[in-house]
Amino acid sequence: MDSYDYIIAGGGCAGLSLVMHLIQTGAATSGNILLIDKAPKTVNDRTWCFWEKGEGLFEPVVSHRWERLWFYGTGYADCKQILPYRYKMIRSLDFYNYCHEHIRAQDHITVLYGEIEQINSEPLQDASVVVNGQTYQGRYIFSSILPENPVLGKKDFYLLQHFKGWIIETPGSVFSPGEATLMDFRVDQQRGTSFVYVMPFSPMRALVEYTLFTESLLEQQDYEQGLKNYISDILHISDYQVHEEEFGIIPMTNFHFRSRENQVYYIGTAGGQTKASSGYTFQFIQKQSRQIAASLLETGVPPAAVSGSKYQFYDSVLLNVLATGKLPGDRVFTEMFRRNPMDRIFRFLDNESSLLEDLQVISTLPTMPFLKAGWQQI
Ligand SMILES: Cc1cc2nc3c(=O)[nH]c(=O)nc-3n(C[C@H](O)[C@H](O)[C@H](O)COP(=O)(O)OP(=O)(O)OC[C@H]3O[C@@H](n4cnc5c(N)ncnc54)[C@H](O)[C@@H]3O)c2cc1C
Repeated sequence: MDSYDYIIAGGGCAGLSLVMHLIQTGAATSGNILLIDKAPKTVNDRTWCFWEKGEGLFEPVVSHRWERLWFYGTGYADCKQILPYRYKMIRSLDFYNYCHEHIRAQDHITVLYGEIEQINSEPLQDASVVVNGQTYQGRYIFSSILPENPVLGKKDFYLLQHFKGWIIETPGSVFSPGEATLMDFRVDQQRGTSFVYVMPFSPMRALVEYTLFTESLLEQQDYEQGLKNYISDILHISDYQVHEEEFGIIPMTNFHFRSRENQVYYIGTAGGQTKASSGYTFQFIQKQSRQIAASLLETGVPPAAVSGSKYQFYDSVLLNVLATGKLPGDRVFTEMFRRNPMDRIFRFLDNESSLLEDLQVISTLPTMPFLKAGWQQI
C-alpha cells in the first residue's frame, strides 16, 4: 500500500488552493502529498469572481479587476466605488494551469488521475482512499468530493443558484470595462429571485450571466431566452456574437456539511465553504486553505473543527425568507444595497463584520419577514 502524509482528494478549486497554500507557507515540505482527481483539467469549466482587498495568492491569474460596481434593484440603481476592495475574475483554466506549474516543481507532490471509489476512515488510524482498485493510505485526507444526496433536517433549505453566461462581442463600443454589474434585477421575477450580472473586459466584450436562486432548474432554452431578452431590452444591443458559454449550479443550503470524520477533513463546497445565502465560495476556500496550511506548519495537525457561527444563523434566516417566499429576493437585496455602504456589505457577506455592523445591515431589511424567519430557524 502506498503511504502519504497528506492525500488531497479532488483537485478542483479547494484541492489546488490547499496545495498552493501548503507550498507557499512551506508546510508542503513537511510531508509527501498525493493529489487525486478524475482527469486532468483541460477546459475552462468555470469563472470565479470575488472581491478582495490588496493582492491574493492567485493575483498572477486574475484576468480582470473592477473598482466600480453597479447594482440595479427595484426602483433603485447606483454605481459604487468599492476601493480598497476590487472585484476580480479568474478563469478556471488559468488557475488550474498555474497551480499545476507550481506542483510540477515540487518533487514530493504526486498527481494521480483516476476515480476515487471509496474513502475510508477509522478512529485513531490513518485514512485511505481507493482509486482504480488500489488503496492509498494517508495520515490526513482532505476531501472536496461532495456527499451524494444529503439528508436535510426540518429547518434545512436547499436552493440552487443556477446560471447560464455568454461572453459576447459587439462590433462597436458599448461597455465600460472599469464598471461591472454585480446584480441587475430588471428581469422577470416570476420564477423566483432572478438577476443578471455583466462583467465587461473591453468596450466590445463582456460576460453576461443570467442567474436564478430557485429550487429547480430551467430548460436550457429558458436561460438563453433570459439572456437574449436582457441583452436586447436592457443593454439595447442587437448586434453581437456569442464567443463562449458557461453553465453552472451552486448549492445554496444551510445543510450542515460535516467538516471532519476521523482523519478525513472536508474542504471546499463539500466542507461547507459555499456561503449559503450568496453562493460565493472562492474566498472562503482561500481562508480555509490558509488556516489548514498554518495549522499544519505550526502544530503538524489540521485545525480543530469550528462549531456553528452567527453567520450560519443569518444565512439560514435569509434562505428561509427566500425559499418560503416571505419576501422576494429583489426586495431583500435592493434594501441591503440601497442602505449600506459597500465595505459593510462585503464584510457582512465575508463573515467578517462586527456585531454592530450586523445590526446595521439587519436593520435595513424589512423587519417582520426576517423576525418570523429568525424565529422559525431558532
Ligand atoms: C460554473 C460555476 C461558476 C462559479 N462561479 C463562482 C464565482 O464566481 N465565485 C465564487 O466564489 N464561487 C463560484 N462558484 C462556486 C465555487 O467556487 C466552485 O464550485 C468551486 O469550484 C468549488 O470548489 P471545490 O473544490 O469545492 O469543488 P470543485 O472545484 O468542483 O472540485 C472538486 C474536484 O473533485 C473532483 N472529483 C469529484 N469526484 C471525484 C471522484 N470520485 N474521484 C476523483 N475526483 C473527483 C472533481 O473532478 C473536481 O475537480 C462557481 C461554481 C460553478 C459550478
